[in-house]
Amino acid sequence: MILYDERLVSREETDIDIEDRAYQFGDGVYEMIRVYHGRPFYMDEHLARLERSATEIRLSLPYPITRLKQLLLDLIQQNHLEEGNVYIQVSRGVAPRYHGFPEQARPLVIAYTQHAKRPLAELNHGIKAVTTEDIRWLRCDIKSLNLLGAVLAKQTAIDHGAKEAILVRDGIVTEGSSTNIFIIKDGTLHTHPANHLILNGITRQVIFKLADECEIPISETTFSKEALESADEVFLSSTTMEICPIVEIDGRPVGQGVPGPVTKQLQEAFVNEIKRTTLA
Ligand code: PLP
Repeated sequence: MILYDERLVSREETDIDIEDRAYQFGDGVYEMIRVYHGRPFYMDEHLARLERSATEIRLSLPYPITRLKQLLLDLIQQNHLEEGNVYIQVSRGVAPRYHGFPEQARPLVIAYTQHAKRPLAELNHGIKAVTTEDIRWLRCDIKSLNLLGAVLAKQTAIDHGAKEAILVRDGIVTEGSSTNIFIIKDGTLHTHPANHLILNGITRQVIFKLADECEIPISETTFSKEALESADEVFLSSTTMEICPIVEIDGRPVGQGVPGPVTKQLQEAFVNEIKRTTLA
């Protein structure tokens, strides 16, 4: 089943209009929520961010977020989703093609689920990344459907046999194409501050809480590409990749070229957080 507007229906029963503004302008916002043990992880935080993204592009959700939450819980249950993802998208709706906001259109919510296991090989062994220029717009804090900058960056990584692209704007590391980036230097965690140049990841926010509990100092200040290259450890974070070590950047090993101790400590704390919140 998928969620289409306010109804759970089979995928075949729906049709998306050619003049849906998501198609023509990328005019909408989205979220991805992880499900563990049949229960969504930090769902309220994701839905709050969806509401914020919508507000920032002056889009009113067609019904209250509490209603959406109930529909998504129904969707998870009806699809028997034990381990996987829920993708939610809200477009500004269907209207004759014209850049300005339509007067009549009702925003369209759609959501579907994907079965997906935790990426254990990557989590245990780490991944390769490459650096590339951050060519995206200046409102990366909005989780908008305009993802071409991210798509091109990710493909650059894939072209180089890597899994993620680390974006650099004016010599400063901002984030990954679909992840936040952290470095560890002399025991302190550094990550870009949550401003217009990055998405304030939900996983990023969970990491702040866990680091605090583990008494790992965090510095939310910008760092350069040179600092990235001389870091003791580097990891990325996202809903689907969790806390994933980066062991090679631009063909050179990070630290010893294997996941480092601080990253592993946070990974362990993250697994405990999954258990605490979804197995209660
Ligand atoms: N940064 C960008 C650009 C992203 O697209 C994402 C996730 O899709 C993230 C960071 C990580 O955010 P979250 O932890 O909420 O998944």
